[in-house]
Parts: sequence; C-alpha cells; structure tokens
Amino acid sequence: MPGTPRPAASAATHCPYCALQCAMRLTAATGLTVQARDFPTNGGGLCQKGWSSTGVVTAPDRLTRPLLRGNGGELVPVSWEVALDHIAATIREMQREHGKDTVAVFGGGGLTNEKAYQLGKFARLALGTRFVDYNGRFCMSSAAAGANRAFGLDRGLPFPLADLGGADAILLLGSNPAETMPPFVRHLAPVRGRGGLIVVDPRRSATAALTEDGSGLHLAPRPGTDLALLLGMLHLLLAERLIDRAYVEARTEGFEEVAASVGLWWPERVEQVCGVPVIDLQSAVRRLAAAAPAHGGRGAYILTGRGVEQSSQGTATVTAAINCALALGLPGRTGSGYGALTGQGNGQGGREHGQKADQLPGYRSIEDPAARAYVAGVWGVDPEVIPGKGVPAVELLRRLGTSGGPRALLVHGSNVVVSAPNAERVTERLRALDLLVVADVVPSETALLADVVLPVTQWAEEDGTMTNLEGRILRRRKAIEPPGEARSELWIWAELASRLRAPSTWPTEPAAVFAELAEASHGGVADYSGLTHDLIDATEAAGHGCYWPVPDAPDPSAVPDGGHGTPRPFLDGFPRPSGRARAVSVTYAEPADNVRAGAPLYLTTGRLLHHYQSGAQTRRVAELVASAPEPFVALHPLLADVHDIAEGDLVAVTTGRGTAYVRARVTADQRPDTLFMPFHWGGLGSANRLTNDRTDPVSGMPDFKVCAASIARVSAA
Ligand code: SF4
Repeated sequence: MPGTPRPAASAATHCPYCALQCAMRLTAATGLTVQARDFPTNGGGLCQKGWSSTGVVTAPDRLTRPLLRGNGGELVPVSWEVALDHIAATIREMQREHGKDTVAVFGGGGLTNEKAYQLGKFARLALGTRFVDYNGRFCMSSAAAGANRAFGLDRGLPFPLADLGGADAILLLGSNPAETMPPFVRHLAPVRGRGGLIVVDPRRSATAALTEDGSGLHLAPRPGTDLALLLGMLHLLLAERLIDRAYVEARTEGFEEVAASVGLWWPERVEQVCGVPVIDLQSAVRRLAAAAPAHGGRGAYILTGRGVEQSSQGTATVTAAINCALALGLPGRTGSGYGALTGQGNGQGGREHGQKADQLPGYRSIEDPAARAYVAGVWGVDPEVIPGKGVPAVELLRRLGTSGGPRALLVHGSNVVVSAPNAERVTERLRALDLLVVADVVPSETALLADVVLPVTQWAEEDGTMTNLEGRILRRRKAIEPPGEARSELWIWAELASRLRAPSTWPTEPAAVFAELAEASHGGVADYSGLTHDLIDATEAAGHGCYWPVPDAPDPSAVPDGGHGTPRPFLDGFPRPSGRARAVSVTYAEPADNVRAGAPLYLTTGRLLHHYQSGAQTRRVAELVASAPEPFVALHPLLADVHDIAEGDLVAVTTGRGTAYVRARVTADQRPDTLFMPFHWGGLGSANRLTNDRTDPVSGMPDFKVCAASIARVSAA
C-alpha cells in the first residue's frame, strides 16, 4: 500500500539529496509542499531535484511494512516482531557457528549523523563485528585520505563556500556542479566575472561550458591522466618560479622532495600523456598563480571532485592537487585554499562518526589505544570489546559469501547493486549470503534481493543533523509522520541490540543520540562536543549554522565572520604534530584498465542533473523521470560515424566486466576517444556492470572513472 503521510507541521529543513544541503521549508497543511529558504549555501535556490523532493515521500511503492522472504521465495509482509526476532535469531545462530565476523554491515553517506554514529556502535557492540563500512568509500575516500595525510584533518571544504566569491581564480578538477548541484554555481559567478574559472574535465560538461563566454578555460585531458596533468602543473610552477617560497618554508614539510619528483614532467610530455596542449597548460598555471596572494592576486582555490578522485590513483591525484595548492601558498589563508566537493547529502558527517572500517566517532582511528579507551568509556564497555579494523567497502563486498568471509549482511542507506563497481559480481556475492537484510524507504534493486526488508523513515519524517560539504552542521527537521509501519533505524538498532543482549544503552530519540555522539567526539578531530540540537537550531536561526570542530558551546547571539564554530580551521596552523602541511611525492601510472586492441575506447561515468546516486529515490519522481527517463551512452559524432551509430540507436558497450545495453546519445561534448554513461540505473543499462573494482591502495576507492571499452550498434532507433 502506498504511504499516506499524515500532515504534522511546517518545518525548516534541508534537501534530502546532495551535500550542498540547500535550505528549504516543508509545509504539510494541504499535501506536502517545498519552499526554498535563503541560506548562505543556496541563496534561496534549489535545483529540480530539490523542488520535486516530496515525490520520494509519496512514491507509489513506498515500503510501509517489514517483509520476510517466505518458503515460496516471495517477500511477504510480517510484523516488526517477527522480522526482528528472525534477524536476531539467525544472527545469533550464525555467530555461534562461524564467529562474530560472519555478520557484516554496510552503511551510507545519506544517513544522518545520529544514524551514522549509532550504526558504527551497533556493528561494534551489538554484532561485535569488525566488518563495517559504507558507500562513502565510493565517494570521498580518496579526498579524505589525501587531506588527512597532508593537513591532519579532512573537512571537504575547510572554508565557507561564500569565500570562493572573493578569489581571482578557481581550478575545478573533475567536478560538474552546474549539473550536480546548480545552486553552487552562484558562488562561481564573481570568479567567472574575472575570467578565472579553470575547469578540468574530459567532457564539455555543463560546468566546462560556463568557461566559453571568456570567463575561463577548459582543459579536457584523456581519462585517467589527471595525475600527470597535476604533476606537469607543479613542474611549470617551479620552472616559471611561481612558488610561494615564504609560505613553503614557513608552513609545509617535504616540499623539496616533491619538487625534485616532478622534474621530468615537461609540458610537452604532459601534452603527450594527457592530450592537453602546452599552451593551455601554461595558460591555466599562469592564471592560477597570478591569482595567488604571493603574486598580488585576491586569492585562488583548487577544488577536486569525483572525476579525479574515483580512481585507483585517487589519493595520489588529490595529493598532487594539494601539492600545487601548497606550492602557491593557498591552504590556511583566508580567501584561498584547497578543498574537495562532497557529493552525498551527509558524505561529510557520514565519514566522521564511526561507520568506516578503520574509524571510531570523532574521526578517531580504531587502532589508536587512547581513542579506543575513550570511546569505550562513553559506551560503558571494556576497550577490548571493540573489534579491530575491518576492510574497505569493495573488499568487504568481495568477501561476502566466500569461504571464511561474512555470510550475513545488513545494509542501511545504500543500493550497492547499482552503486558499487563491477555490479554483477556484487549481485553474485549478495546471492551467496545466508542472510541479507536491507533497510530502505523503497524497494531498491538491493532490497529486492534481501531475505528481510525493513521499511524506514526518511528525511521529511525525521529529526536529526547533517554535515554539509563545508563541514557546516545543519538540522533536519520532521514535517510529517511516516507512512504505515515505517520506523527509524535508531529504533531498529535499539530493538536488535536488546534482542542480541548488547551492552551499553541505545537511545532512539535523535537529540539524545546526538548528545552521546557529541560526547564520543570530544577531543577528536571532528569534535561536535560543544553542540546540541537546540544550539544548532539557534546557530542556523542566526544565519550560518556551525562548523566543526566545535569543542565549546557557541553563542548564537554573536555571529563571527563566516559562522559559528571553526569556519576556517587552518588559519593558525595545520593539526599535525609539526603544525605544518605535508607535501608528499606521488608517481603517475597509466590507468589500470587502459585502452587496447578490442577495447580501444575510454569509458567514464558520472551524474546527471535529474538523478541522485543510484537513482533509487529520483527514479520514483515523475517529473525527474520525464526529464531523464533512461540510461544512455554519450559518444562523439566522429566515433558514431565509425561505428555506424545514430542518435537513439540501441548499442552494446562492453568492458572486461561485461556488457550494458543503452541508447546512444551523439554529442560533440565528448572526446572522440571517450564514452560517457550516467550511473543512476540498474539492470542491463547499468554503468556499473562495466566499471572496474580495482581499488586505490590507500583509500580503497574503486576505478569508476576510466576503463577500456568497445561499442557496437545492436539495432536502429
Ligand atoms: Fe540543492 Fe543538491 Fe538538493 Fe539540488 S540536490 S536542491 S543542489 S541540495
């Protein structure tokens, strides 16, 4: 039965989708309606996804009752008691036979901070498993690893978005905000006015097209060569003596070794490897350098996105971007900096509170004895009770159902059948499990494989907090009651913890969970301990919200420059033992799955304006489906001619993982050697049937952005 939300109130909240977390008001008096709110991030704007976001609440196939797979193989409705008793009894029996680690947990970057925190605690204390990780591993892990290594702290943008407007130049690497988060583009307007927007993207994306009015420059490197491009940029900065020497000496370490490592990256070699003309490389580097404070500019930013991060060289590429930023003296200065544009709604908070394989709340390492002791104290358990480090998401999925690997999986807030690389193999691994439990709001492709499906509340139906791409902590507020028997995951974990006789306490009210999260984060890198839900409300009402770290309670009556908390955390030094940022030398390697005979094309994947992540939510919103109804492959007209492919033809795209069948979209926005597919769909048109699950050795990020492919026409339009 479709959910019929019961009107409750009007609520000032934020969009359910991406990390910009645009401010909106939900009113439930006559059906649920959305109004945009003015906030520093979105300036009163929303994209089409935000305007139509109530469509997910009223999705016709909204899950409203727990489902259990019966003997006939069908999912049949059961009571919560039956579903939870079944899960707990099965887990107890499996763990008795195979040990604690036979159960694994997979979380999501869309879960609220409270849920991300409680999920990590549930995995460690109620299940006692080390196997917990989440889909942020597919999103921000390379940026996080690079920033942690260089700065000692990973906060996507360590400055308010509004600061971007003061710069003379922005180098945007592998990010397409004009399509993925349109209200963000307002922050680029001043720099475009100064001719300083430099976009690096193999495609003529909507953002790259913004540079064509003379407001900037578009570099279109061969997929998989971003790292070489950045090594060449640093080479040029050194060769043309554009380094901020005073900054490098005062605020960095390891720079001389890095400088020596790029000696052979001449612009001509960069052109050969990347396909970017020398003159464009020089122009980009000189524009960026001229904008830096050391050369009298107003300021410059280097920003990375998934285009350069989602690679088995992702951490190295982020590191190379940071090295360029350090060379120009940008990080830790008002009006300049390096940052990564987070994608998922709570991609930032989701990686701070303990749902990662190697992490405890407060962004603490699970291998740090002092961190284990502190968090164990908050949880009221012996530190020995907390399991050790697990494995990153791709490795976790690979081990499912194998000899010695987990035989049960609980999935919360993720649709791995569509979003994980090499998706057919993921489906095989899920089918090999003895128990698959999926909690979701709709019957996603992953939920349809489950033994037990749990209907959960979503954004408009719950309170909580989200941390946006700037590290700004925001309130999500409940506007309506959930439909049918949908319940919060906080309640589900408390019920299961009770059935599994877990130690500690398991509050279900978001404000109470936040209070515990705040205490557990105290003294950690991502310190929320000065905050409560009420204080976040007050700081939002004062106009800005609050940025972590926030160890002391903010005073909402006095708004500091940029907002409460710590809007610019590096101004007084970097949180590393030396107080300096660390430059690290990195080495370029050709893409792991490089073009070759039989697979002569590059395939890259990405997002569209009208859909979000795996599309499980947005594919259920009629107006978004009307705008973007089906998957496709984009290819250049020259390539289309070679293969006798016309617009709308059904084509087969094949890689080492398999074949996808989609319609062709012929466009000169593509490089002639590169195919592009959006990844919002499952089934035979799924882009992730084709992607490579080889991972970055540091971050565990898979190679989403480049693989070798071929294309062939199947039938005419
Ligand atoms: Fe804003 Fe992102 Fe929501 Fe669009 S999807 S309205 S950009 S938060």
